[in-house]
Amino acid sequence: MIEVGHFIGGKRVAGTSGRTADIMQPMDGSVRGKVALASREELRKAVENAKEAQIGWAATNPQRRVRVLMKFLDLVQNEYDELAEMLAREHGKTIPDAKGDIQRGLEVIEVCIGAPHLLKGEYTDGAGPGIDVYSLRQPLGVVAGITPFNFPAMIPLWKIGPAIAAGNSFILKPSERDPSVPMRIAELFIEAGLPAGVLNVVNGDKDVVDGILDDPDIKAVGFVGSTPIAQYIYSRATANGKRAQCFGGAKNHMIIMPDADMDQTVDALIGAGYGSAGERCMAISVAVPVGEETANRLVEKLIPRVEALKIGSSLDASADFGPVVTADALSRIKTYVDGGVKEGAKLVVDGRDFKMQGYENGYYMAGCLFDHVTPDMKIYKEEIFGPVLSVVRAKTYEDAIRLPNEHEYGNGVSIFTRDGDAARDFAARVQVGMVGVNVPIPVPIAYYTFGGWKASGFGDLNQHGPDAFRFYTKTKTVTSRWPSGIKDGAEFVIPTMN
Ligand code: NAD
Repeated sequence: MIEVGHFIGGKRVAGTSGRTADIMQPMDGSVRGKVALASREELRKAVENAKEAQIGWAATNPQRRVRVLMKFLDLVQNEYDELAEMLAREHGKTIPDAKGDIQRGLEVIEVCIGAPHLLKGEYTDGAGPGIDVYSLRQPLGVVAGITPFNFPAMIPLWKIGPAIAAGNSFILKPSERDPSVPMRIAELFIEAGLPAGVLNVVNGDKDVVDGILDDPDIKAVGFVGSTPIAQYIYSRATANGKRAQCFGGAKNHMIIMPDADMDQTVDALIGAGYGSAGERCMAISVAVPVGEETANRLVEKLIPRVEALKIGSSLDASADFGPVVTADALSRIKTYVDGGVKEGAKLVVDGRDFKMQGYENGYYMAGCLFDHVTPDMKIYKEEIFGPVLSVVRAKTYEDAIRLPNEHEYGNGVSIFTRDGDAARDFAARVQVGMVGVNVPIPVPIAYYTFGGWKASGFGDLNQHGPDAFRFYTKTKTVTSRWPSGIKDGAEFVIPTMN
């Protein structure tokens, strides 16, 4: 049994609140250990450490700051396998997929190595007589991140990297379901030379989240998780005068045009729909074939592929996907599937009764495929977050593009076609933040920004890429006049360029 406390002032500390939660191992349903749930006093301790450490860290020149990030990248390489196994055990995803989770986080750290350049301001020489104007990007101070269970390495790293590279100190509140990897990440940063207190981890639930939202010393909050919580965090954080960026749930469509290469499309759908048991915010959960003939060809090819998916334990590297995260999640997903059947969708592959031999207490189900789903159904409107793909048949391209455009969520979307005109029109008109053309999971590479539209994202700036540096810094503009001592007399009219 493991015991996970908090990471405050550069070291692991035991929880003192007396409240804990079980850390489960989804592959066999066993209790792996306990995680402490922080009290407001423990949060305060972390904030005080962070506040003090931030002064020296902000004064450290940016090139020295990023050397810590470089060293961190090296240290992770030495224990990639151990981290991936730890992640797989607590999340449920397979080890190769867990390695991808870590890698996509490291790619953002790699981009943060460019912080000295990314933090440069602007300069205008001679904006007026003897007048120069320049701008600075300064850190905010203490900032916080609240992250979801489904990417316990990637999403914390997306936030920690730019925040600390910009000279802030950071309080991470990871998901209480899989806290071990974020704790180890914090430890590795200290081993890499990060001063104690610059990165702290407080584990916990709503109580500590509310503490973060109300703490006057925390200047910004980055959140990733489900939409109702994203909305709640955005309103409470901004009402308290904080900067906030909050990313929520998703319902990602893939439009399949009649000219699409059907084998390529099916390969893409299988990976994007069922990889990680569908527990990705960029998973494709709705396939929209255009025209009856396209739909028939698609469904005919999809059925045997969904039936052949290999479900395995998190430690089975040959499995296509493993268990879902909790017993509650399993029952919620099955309830959605039951509801879809009741609403009249055609369940052409039913994975509800799958049992994993030797792991009967694990949280497994096989892939489900629905055909003839319509936009009024709950399985279409809501995020299921499981291995369930819905086919919504569209008569025309215009009917197809209307679906993602009118959907509440707007995280990712994709079109499969050989027609450049259609692809270009789609990319221009679709009301979704991240678009793939013959790419099923269009998670932008680390030097572009990541963020959904509509109910998938609240706040003005995206994650990673240049936006992350804007989010974690404030701009100061300096107008200076030299030499001093020029005497123009008092001026009562606002200065202009005339
Ligand atoms: P969640 O909203 O349940 O939890 C996210 C975080 O919020 C956790 O740290 C949790 O402890 C905290 N939290 C939960 N309930 C809270 C409450 N009532 N008050 C305050 N804090 C609370 O999300 P999850 O189940 O961990 O993650 C899955 C969700 O995250 C899915 O909806 C998925 O689409 C979304 N997600 C979105 C993105 C994105 O970039 N848009 C990325 C990954 C996951």
